[in-house]
Amino acid sequence: MAKMQAAFVTAFGKPLEIRTVDIPTPGPGQILVKTEACGVCHTDLHAANGDWPLKPVPPFIPGHEAIGRVVALGQGVTAVKEGERVGVPWLASACGHCEYCLSAWETVCGEAQFGGYTRNGGFAEYVVADPNYVAHIPDGLEPHEAAPLICAGVTTYKGLKETDARPGQWVAISGAGGLGNLAIQYAKAMGFKVAAVDIDDGKLAHATERGADLVFNALKGDVAADLKAATGGGAHGVLITAPSLSAFKQGVGMTRKLGTCVLVGLPPGEFPTPLFNVVADCITIRGSFVGTRQDMAEALAFAAEGKVKADIELAPLSDVNSIFDRLSKGEVASRVVLDFRAA
Ligand code: NAD
Ligand code: ZN
Ligand code: ZN
Repeated sequence: MAKMQAAFVTAFGKPLEIRTVDIPTPGPGQILVKTEACGVCHTDLHAANGDWPLKPVPPFIPGHEAIGRVVALGQGVTAVKEGERVGVPWLASACGHCEYCLSAWETVCGEAQFGGYTRNGGFAEYVVADPNYVAHIPDGLEPHEAAPLICAGVTTYKGLKETDARPGQWVAISGAGGLGNLAIQYAKAMGFKVAAVDIDDGKLAHATERGADLVFNALKGDVAADLKAATGGGAHGVLITAPSLSAFKQGVGMTRKLGTCVLVGLPPGEFPTPLFNVVADCITIRGSFVGTRQDMAEALAFAAEGKVKADIELAPLSDVNSIFDRLSKGEVASRVVLDFRAA
């Protein structure tokens, strides 16, 4: 049987193991995708550490930003063709008939499966996928450029929509890493004025290059007060991508009266909410989880039209542990993408 290389989480908090295993066979209704590229998201790190209440079961293959060509169809598949370029995202499948699926909120389906979490993901030369939930990659987008869009891109694009901010208004983006870097570009393309917040001055300099109108270092001074002063009352929409609990209270503090603070980062734990301010200022605090298939198509279209472009650093699969180490220390400039094309 033909073999492939894949990186496995074998125990939480332990280095990943590169193993040579059988190439999986797609079952009825499934497809096999030959991976060309797969982004490394901070969520993969949470998965490998078992950070969240819902835990994946080792051994498993992380990765939910895989792009590749369809190389085999299971029985009965008509939704995609062999040779098509697809993305295998976090939302790997859903039931299709619950109240959430029926109202186009498949992201919160109770039977949803998650790529690289409840199902093996894209840190592998081949990955099995559900053809009804793959992303369709527009012609003209290179696989390594498309990879970050299918999690970081769709998540921040959707999160910005969920702020309910309107063109010309202020949005603040807390965390200017893999997600934040794309969030800044989507926000500019959507017509917002953008304030970026991070704890790393290098990331903030990069945020300015990407179009941020204002930048704030979260560790210097009273950022919520400074941002409110600079924006004439706070951001109409706040998007928190930082994987740090302190960013959440700060993000609520940056929100304008009647504004919406959207929570996207997923550090384990809870954060204190300044209840009086939230109530008296009529602030909405809202969670947002990746995006639907329609959000995905819209997010990819922005990139196909040249309005956003992920900043990427290519690396081989064998570097996965050093990438995780750098990601945990905040040392990745924006997104590392595993490059499988030479393999
Ligand atoms: P990343 O490590 O690439 O970027 C995080 C950035 O946050 C870094 O630039 C870091 O310097 C900055 N940061 C750290 N502490 C901060 C603070 N206190 N204030 C401001 N900035 C701070 O991570 P990523 O891949 O962008 O993922 C970020 C988070 O989003 C993770 O927790 C991940 O699990 C989560 N996530 C959620 C969804 C969702 O659907 N809700 C989807 C993808 C990722
Ligand atoms: Zn992700
Ligand atoms: Zn459902």
